[in-house]
Amino acid sequence: MPAEIMIDKSPEPYDSVISRAESLISLHNSDIEVATTTEYGAFSAINKISHRRFILYSPEFFNDVSENRQNDLSVLSICLHELGHLMYNHPLRRTSTAQIFEKEADRFSGYYMCLAGATLDQSLAAIKKFGNENETETHPDKAVRAKEIEAGYIDARINIFKDTTYKKQRDSITVLVQQTLAMNKIKKSMFKKDSSKRNLAAGAGEKTKEPTLALLDQFVLLGETIYVDAQNNVRSNKEKEPIGKFLPATTPGNGRIMIEDVSYTLENGQIYSGAPKVAKLSVGHQIN
Ligand SMILES: [Zn+2]
Repeated sequence: MPAEIMIDKSPEPYDSVISRAESLISLHNSDIEVATTTEYGAFSAINKISHRRFILYSPEFFNDVSENRQNDLSVLSICLHELGHLMYNHPLRRTSTAQIFEKEADRFSGYYMCLAGATLDQSLAAIKKFGNENETETHPDKAVRAKEIEAGYIDARINIFKDTTYKKQRDSITVLVQQTLAMNKIKKSMFKKDSSKRNLAAGAGEKTKEPTLALLDQFVLLGETIYVDAQNNVRSNKEKEPIGKFLPATTPGNGRIMIEDVSYTLENGQIYSGAPKVAKLSVGHQIN
């Protein structure tokens, strides 16, 4: 979050790019307020009390991104990413699931860059140049983020433009997801070991009843493996506490996954994220 917000109502050179991003997601007459900030970068924010929504950017940053305004498509990809955060209400959430939300906003950006007529390279240009080499507490590394943008881009190519030539590329991303899964399997066994340790501790004279950690369902959501326990709590490897709730429908493979009040729809084993007005984005699937 920027330390200082300078509200400047005079038209900024990037207003038209932001308007274009908004109209791409059918947000005409949007109540999103655009302001510049002295903090280098682009940000989204929601006021917790008034619920006013903001896109903030430093003109310096956008100048660097667009390389003297030769290529506003890179700026567009960043605006779409920030709008994705706002559409999914991410700024109101806890930070423990920040990486998931970053990836969701990246996928959103890739999807709408495709609808804007950008090439995949143009959609990836900003992240390649400005993304972090290594992951941080809140942001995945830029290789992971580029894959999310690509996944969103391909989602639109296949589902909106019915472009089957991208299926091969989607499969290569699936391979990558499977590699992540293999790694997560190792993590999962650690997770189990950890829970048995805690059960042992509870058995040693303590009366606290440990919740049973039988894992009923497994999903991949935005490259993270998540599990559902017997109480329908959604769990991840990274957090000891549940990160959400699973609301199963009567038909298996259907229901809703709630993470921090953000709702994902599970339909025939496929996970979609969605918010009113924006596209249904494919973001994951059930494993077992
Ligand atoms: Zn972000």
